[in-house]
Amino acid sequence: MEFVAKEFCLVEPFKFALRERVIEHVPKGFLLLKPIVASICGSEMLYFKGEKEPEKLKTRLPMCLLHEGVAEVVDADEGAKVNIGTKVVVNPLIPCGECYFCKGQLENLCQNAKYMAATADGLARTLFLYPEDRVLPIPDGVDLEVATLTEPLSVALNAFEESGARIGNSVAVIGDGPIGYLLTLVSSYIGNIPPTKLYLIGVADEKLSLARDFASPINSLKDYLMLNEIYEKIDIAFEAAGGRAHKITIKEVVDILRPGGKCILLGISMGEVPVEVNKIVNKGLIFKGSTRSRMSHYIKALELLKSTDFQSKVRRIISMKRFIINDIDDLTEAFKYADTEEGESRIKPGRVLLYFP
Ligand SMILES: [Zn+2]
Ligand SMILES: [Zn+2]
Repeated sequence: MEFVAKEFCLVEPFKFALRERVIEHVPKGFLLLKPIVASICGSEMLYFKGEKEPEKLKTRLPMCLLHEGVAEVVDADEGAKVNIGTKVVVNPLIPCGECYFCKGQLENLCQNAKYMAATADGLARTLFLYPEDRVLPIPDGVDLEVATLTEPLSVALNAFEESGARIGNSVAVIGDGPIGYLLTLVSSYIGNIPPTKLYLIGVADEKLSLARDFASPINSLKDYLMLNEIYEKIDIAFEAAGGRAHKITIKEVVDILRPGGKCILLGISMGEVPVEVNKIVNKGLIFKGSTRSRMSHYIKALELLKSTDFQSKVRRIISMKRFIINDIDDLTEAFKYADTEEGESRIKPGRVLLYFP
């Protein structure tokens, strides 16, 4: 059977166009997937707003955005293990499988990898072919909307693992967006860091309050006393704000870390960021970047989501606002809303979900 996919491509900043693609057959090892729900990630906003490096915009567009989501199996090759109709989480990373990093179980660092909405087309399509070994069936009891956040949750799990945080540590997460929230949740849930030693630092009260029952929120625009109290006391910090905020947050990290403390960097900068090198040297601080995640983190994320308590806490970062994507105007409207710097999402919490009917 022949299928025709509608693809919503970003052709230039702020401009989507519709493309049609004919899919004639499903190759061996592949599935034909139909996206059901996806969410907008901050990394995609950089493409939409044209804030990515000009070279990347030039070589990567046109491209379908969206890399967090779930899909339904519409067709499969004969040898496939999953049934038609199965709902799956899509791992947006396809590693090369051959390089030094892939062979060393570090597929998230593979430099030849295809990653949706970065170096390959993403989920903003009605149908697409994908390798069967890069999807995971959604376990019973995990609802589709929450499963959409498996990718950001897997990123938080990877970063937490890389931090080496232990019980007894003081942990600070900078950034009140979904990744910051999930890092705080993972620190509490997996790391058993008590609320008195777990700080979520941000600028929007409505977002910070989501973690109030398992962490101590600090609004860095007004809670100066609390910020002062943790000065040079933090063992592990996560920087998950990035963007324009980086100029302030990196300085904040250097100040709140105790000598010998460690920072995991997850946020993506806009341009160069000034760093107080002397303070880092004199305090013996460790900075480590963390990017993407591995299949094992997806498996762990779905396992965790089977708990109704954990699932309900993840659900808190789903935006109240939903968009149904029928055409490119719907997609444009959704991206404008989800912009945390200029859109309504600046103060309203949560990942904005998009439904593909
Ligand atoms: Zn993401
Ligand atoms: Zn590789």
